[in-house]
Order: sequence, then C-alpha cells, then structure tokens
Amino acid sequence: MEQNRIEVANWFGDLKTYPSVVVEAHSLEDLENIVNNPEKYPSPLKAVGQNHSTAQCCEADGGTIIKIKMNKILEIGDDFITVEPGVLYKDIGEKLDSLNKQHYINTEIGCLSAGSAACAATKDSSFPGEYGQVGSYISKIKLLTASGKKIEVDDQSDPEFMQALRSSYGNFGFIYEITFKTKPKQPLKVWHKSWHINDFINNLEEIKQTNAALMYYLYPFENKIAVEHRQYVDIASSKDFKYNSSLWKIRNHLWKKTAPNLGRWCEENISMDGLKYSIIDNFNALVRFGMRNFLSANNTQPGDQTIRYPDISDKSRYTFSLWAFPESRYHEVLPAYFKFCQKYYKLNNYRTNLLNVGYRIAKDQRSLFSYSFDENVMTVDPVSTSNPGWRQFLVDYNVFCSDLGGFPMFNQTWGVTKEQAEKAFGPRFEKFKKIRKNIDPTNRFLNHYFANILEEKI
Ligand SMILES: Cc1cc2nc3c(=O)[nH]c(=O)nc-3n(C[C@H](O)[C@H](O)[C@H](O)COP(=O)(O)OP(=O)(O)OC[C@H]3O[C@@H](n4cnc5c(N)ncnc54)[C@H](O)[C@@H]3O)c2cc1C
Repeated sequence: MEQNRIEVANWFGDLKTYPSVVVEAHSLEDLENIVNNPEKYPSPLKAVGQNHSTAQCCEADGGTIIKIKMNKILEIGDDFITVEPGVLYKDIGEKLDSLNKQHYINTEIGCLSAGSAACAATKDSSFPGEYGQVGSYISKIKLLTASGKKIEVDDQSDPEFMQALRSSYGNFGFIYEITFKTKPKQPLKVWHKSWHINDFINNLEEIKQTNAALMYYLYPFENKIAVEHRQYVDIASSKDFKYNSSLWKIRNHLWKKTAPNLGRWCEENISMDGLKYSIIDNFNALVRFGMRNFLSANNTQPGDQTIRYPDISDKSRYTFSLWAFPESRYHEVLPAYFKFCQKYYKLNNYRTNLLNVGYRIAKDQRSLFSYSFDENVMTVDPVSTSNPGWRQFLVDYNVFCSDLGGFPMFNQTWGVTKEQAEKAFGPRFEKFKKIRKNIDPTNRFLNHYFANILEEKI
C-alpha cells in the first residue's frame, strides 16, 4: 500500500520526515522489489521498525519509508533464535520465556524491532561479564544490499563487516533475518539504594564491585541518586521456587505511566515553577522511599523488565536523550552534570520535568560506533515530556557532554553535530565511511541525517 508525500513522525511525535513514498514490506520479495525500482521508490530508502528512535535516523525526506512488517519467528535452537526484522524484542522474549529461556539483555523497551536491534545502538545495564548492547548478542545477520545482492554475515565469516553492520543504521541495506544468542532463564534479584551524590561519588569504586548490573535515577535538583541493582541468582538451590511477578509491574508502571502523567499534568496545569517542581521533587522523593523499602525481591523474571509501550503513544509518552562517559571519569562527570542542570535552570529558567536516568555498560567492541569501545561507560540521560525549552536544552547539553569527552548514539541522542560525532568516534568514522561507500556506492540508502554526520554529498 502506498500513499503520496505524507508526514511520518516518530513514536513520540516530535521528529518528522516527509518522504515521497511510504510502503509496507511483508517479505524479502517486497524488499527486493523496492531496491530494484528506484523510479517507483526514490532514494533514500529508509527501513523503519517501530520508529521509537529519539534522533532523526529514520529521516527520508523526498525518499521512501519502508515500514517493516515481516513478523515471523523462523527458528529456535538450544541457544539461539532466528527471526524476521519486524518482530518485537518483547515478543521474542515471551516466546523464549515459554521455553524457559531468555534474552541475554532485557532492555526496558519491548518495542525494539529485531531489525533495529541488529544495526542501531541500544543500552541496558551490563551484568558482570556480559555486554549491555543488544547487537552484541546477535550472531548472524542477512542483508539485502543496494545492488540487490543477498548476503549472510557472522563474526566468523567477516568480523570487520559484522562490526560495522551492527552500527550501520540501515545504511548498508535492508536487514531481513537476524539470529540472537539466547540462554536458559534465570531468576533475578533486585534491590535499590539511594545516595546523596557526594556519598555516591565517594563510594563509587565500592558500588561498582557489587557484582550487579547498575542502572540509576538521577535527581540533579535534590543532589540525589537512586541505584537499581540486578543480579542473577541460582534457581537450583530452592525447591519451592516461585517467580515474583509484581515488582517489575510496579516499577514499570511508575516509570512509564505515573511519572510522565504527573510531569505532563503539572506542565499543563501549574504555571508557578516553584509549585510545579516542588510537586515533582516530592513525588520523586516518595518514589525513592518506596524503591528503597519495598522494591526488592530475590526472584523476579528477567523478561518482566521489558515494557510493551502502546502502538500509538498516548498522554503518558516521554522522550529522552543520552551520552555515555568513560566510567573512570564519572566521578567528575556526574557532579558537573548536576551543576550544569542547576546553573541552566537559574540562567534559562528551564529544567526537565521528569527525572534523569543512567546505566553502567561494559566495554564492547562488537560494533564500530559502540559508545563503550575503549572502556566501561556510565551514562547521563535527561528525560522529559518535551516541555517548552527541551530542544534548546539538548543543544546545550550536547555541547556540555561533548566537551566532557562523551559518546552519543545516532538513534537516541538528538541533535549531534558532525563535529561532536567525529570527536567521539575519531578514526572509526573513516573506516565506516569506506565500508559504507563500498557497499552502497550510489547512496541508495544514505539519508540527509547520516550524510550530514558523515560529511557525504547526496
Ligand atoms: C519510551 C522509549 C523508551 C526507550 N527505552 C529504551 C531502552 O530501554 N533501551 C534502549 O536501548 N533504547 C530505548 N529506547 C530507544 C529505542 O529503543 C531505540 O531508538 C531503537 O532504535 C528503537 O527501535 P525501533 O524498532 O523503533 O527502531 P527505528 O527507530 O524504527 O529504527 C532505528 C534504526 O534502525 C534502522 N532499521 C530498522 N529496521 C531495519 C531493517 N530491517 N533494515 C535496516 N535498517 C533498519 C532504521 O533505518 C533506523 O536507522 C526507547 C525509546 C522510547 C521512545
């Protein structure tokens, strides 16, 4: 089904593109037909999974947006699952769960499409000895290139290409089959602690040794941080073992519904900043109290962390951005970020109306634009309902983060300039450009967003 020159927005609704053609792809044959018909399907060709990205990687002005509707699970083995690109990460997780297996990484976002997981950045706090980027557990990818060639890639056959493909964002062609590594299901122990930022920084080395995956909530206006710890536990030891199914439901409801609804309600109904932010800060304090005292369990299910957001975003929608920093410098970065937010509010009368979050993610060289290529990183992610001032805040936040030596993600960090991208990824940029040019010499898949970042002409 095709329509003429329409507006396509991302899930949140704040990033728009104006393609000449929008088409659905239900099969590999559909994708081949699109690649081979440039007159009917003008360049750039942009595959879109769920369009949840918070940066403009799905832009296709004047070109063709391909909505990927290939939703079949193709094969399940002892330690792998092979799927088509439109299958949602949550659906794969539920299938695995029914077989007593699980994903290695259970991102909070369930609406991540398999195609996007294979070629775009993701993040979740890393368990000891594991990665935090979903693509790193993808062992095989099938790709349809601009010349109509079908290729199958894995780490053995071509590790260099596989590494570039994992961060190709659709620039190398259409991904039409993905194989994820899987593992047996294991219960998760979860607990929370909150700290004053100074105590957190003073204890950071010890906190990192906790042997748990660390995600955290940041409150720059209260100088507080609340840390979520996750740790796998041994199921074999307990005979009457039963999974706890309420902890993640409560946590996810607070995060995906209550907090954004409150932020939006305050925005729409309270004009006095003092009152508005006092309500938000008091709510956050209450949540921290609840997390510390009630949100802990030894027996949660890993897949329950993953949220199925509504297909069409509603009033509780939120958006965010993020930069990652080498963890060896986080003790400087975090206090500087808190000061940046406080000063920004004083000078510009703007602060985000939701909390900030962050993740500790392991060093990972399995994708070329990995934000943790050289060492473990910790992130700083402002979250908001896109209250007035958000965009300008992100421009200034990008400058702040880039100056501090941060690393962005091209699908999740809005507004990254080519200078900032080049500073972050340095020589890896040239390598990517060479591989991209080789596989797509006519720029069939190159959109303006990436052309600008890569300094290519289209
Ligand atoms: C509310 C919310 C919560 C989020 N939580 C998390 C989180 O917990 N962890 C996390 O990592 N991210 C999170 N994100 C970000 C989101 O997961 C990523 O931006 C992800 O890329 C979105 O997946 P998608 O299927 O919507 O990708 P899209 O936005 O549709 O596409 C992303 C990129 O992949 C390319 N692509 C997609 N499919 C194909 C294909 N078949 N072939 C070639 N290229 C393809 C696209 O062209 C584009 O460049 C969240 C976003 C929102 C809005």
